[in-house]
Amino acid sequence: MHSTDSKLWVDGWYRFAKQVHSPNFGPRPANCKVQLVVIHSISLPPNEFGSDHIERFFCNELDHNAHPYFKGLEGLRVSAHFLIKRNSDLVQFVSCLDRAWHAGESTFHGKENCNDFSIGIELEGAEWAGRFEPGQYETLSALCSSLIGEYPVLHFAGHEHISPGRKKDPGDGFVWSKLQRSLGLPDVFFQQTRV
Ligand SMILES: [Zn+2]
Repeated sequence: MHSTDSKLWVDGWYRFAKQVHSPNFGPRPANCKVQLVVIHSISLPPNEFGSDHIERFFCNELDHNAHPYFKGLEGLRVSAHFLIKRNSDLVQFVSCLDRAWHAGESTFHGKENCNDFSIGIELEGAEWAGRFEPGQYETLSALCSSLIGEYPVLHFAGHEHISPGRKKDPGDGFVWSKLQRSLGLPDVFFQQTRV
């Protein structure tokens, strides 16, 4: 007999993620199909890893006096569905059934407002810091495989690709071919810049 405990997804929440509920989300538009994963990178303060500042930021609980950089974040209301930390820990803030606030002004394949139809995944890191941890790729790959099981036609793009000129994350340090190879998907599902 199967129990509901064995389900990978319950109401858009992933079983292997630690849940930290963010108030920054809303409903997706009616009849909107999820068709895109947006990969981001973030570090708070920039280039410092290992604190819980990102979780606090997405929950509107960041202490804005704790660091000069945080002053500039005051009043911002943002979130992502997932965060993968440097130690591979996976945190989920918003149900995938709902719309998280990660992309801002953005366009994918001619469609605007990518938050409507995407899932946002933040990697703890910095677009200029050069690399992400091997364990982050492993967690990302497992998560994306599971997402493909839920949303069969899923494309993958970086924030820098859907908001060019405005955003640079995840940056050159993110190796798209690593993710693509681990998922076994053809080029057509990826939007990375090719050189
Ligand atoms: Zn971003």
